[in-house]
Amino acid sequence: MNVVGVSHLWLLLIYVLIFVLIVGGAVAVVLLVVRSSRPGQSLKLVDRRECPACREWMRRDASLCPHCRTPSEPWTFHNGRWWVQRADGWHYLDERSGAWQRPEQGAPPR
Ligand SMILES: [Zn+2]
Repeated sequence: MNVVGVSHLWLLLIYVLIFVLIVGGAVAVVLLVVRSSRPGQSLKLVDRRECPACREWMRRDASLCPHCRTPSEPWTFHNGRWWVQRADGWHYLDERSGAWQRPEQGAPPR
């Protein structure tokens, strides 16, 4: 009688452990999905752009393509916009149209 009671206790403990592992794993997956889908400054900073040479994706703030090692002008995140410096001055990226714009006013990054 006593032996049966102890083995039931072990069985209960194993059930509880399995339950905790399943619930813990589900919570971890939900947290990962929520964190990766939340827009924010930190995600903006790791946005991607196309390499002008090989068309592979690279970080917007990178100056060297990780795929083909071609150098290109890095973009700068400033006042909520991505900027790039060209021969005729600073341009910012209009995210809605995807086109580069000359600033009418305001401070480009220094
Ligand atoms: Zn490249």
